[in-house]
Amino acid sequence: SKAKLFDEKMDVKTSFKDVAGLEGAKEEVQEIVDFLKNPEKYTSLGGKIPKGALLVGPPGTGKTLLARAVAGEAKVPFFSLSGSDFVEMFVGVGASRVRDLFKQAKEKSPSIIFIDEIDAIGRARGKSNFSGSNDERENTLNQLLTEMDGFGTNTNVIVVAATNRADVLDKALMRAGRFDRQIYVDLPDVRERKEIFEVHLRPLKKDDSLDTDFLAKQTPGFSGADIANVCNEAALIAARKEKKHVGKQDFLDAVDRIVGGLEKKNKIIT
Ligand code: ATP
Repeated sequence: SKAKLFDEKMDVKTSFKDVAGLEGAKEEVQEIVDFLKNPEKYTSLGGKIPKGALLVGPPGTGKTLLARAVAGEAKVPFFSLSGSDFVEMFVGVGASRVRDLFKQAKEKSPSIIFIDEIDAIGRARGKSNFSGSNDERENTLNQLLTEMDGFGTNTNVIVVAATNRADVLDKALMRAGRFDRQIYVDLPDVRERKEIFEVHLRPLKKDDSLDTDFLAKQTPGFSGADIANVCNEAALIAARKEKKHVGKQDFLDAVDRIVGGLEKKNKIIT
């Protein structure tokens, strides 16, 4: 069976309301929404619409979520793929896959292409730590650069890429007319964690005693993904106890469980 090259979502339901915190990043990507919705407004004075933006930040901070929200807000199709899939699944055909992807996105323009883990293909050339697949990766990267350079001024496809390793990226990616905008997506502070809890508590049957200020204070260092995980875990813990509502203790147990998991993960790394 043929591995799927990319996901194509025509009707994205995610909006900025689903993205808690990240005020600065949301403000910056709002500009991309405007470019996609009203390109003529921006090109009327001779300016060129940017082709790419790079979202930079730790894992689980909402980069993918934010990119989807841009597509949802602009009401444009969302084409997405992961850089690591290219290295692991599409050996020998990376460049032609990139060509197909851009062809599709141009046919459906205005549209967004989202490339998660771009560092897997965009690592500085000649500095790869994989020995065998180096030429392959470089061909894929070169094709990506060629496609971006080849966009006409009226193509109206914007490429959003995400990485947690901007430092290893090939500088050619950041050149003017490519990913020349970098947007930082950081771990949430206590106020932002409270907002993220509010988003992920929405679908739960919870008891009235739940205090999001308290939960935010109990979770320093947690990413948005960790918090989503806590909320889900708490609901499962409460259900296992045959409870009718998710309560404070279920959250504390869930936090303990996630902290345990994070500690294990860190131990493996070091
Ligand atoms: P990675 O670098 O691991 O790909 P990412 O930065 O792309 O991570 P997402 O995949 O967007 O992170 O986040 C995973 C999930 O965590 C989201 O689907 C969402 O449920 C939750 N989440 C993360 N950040 C936020 C946020 N700011 N607001 C609400 N939910 C969030």
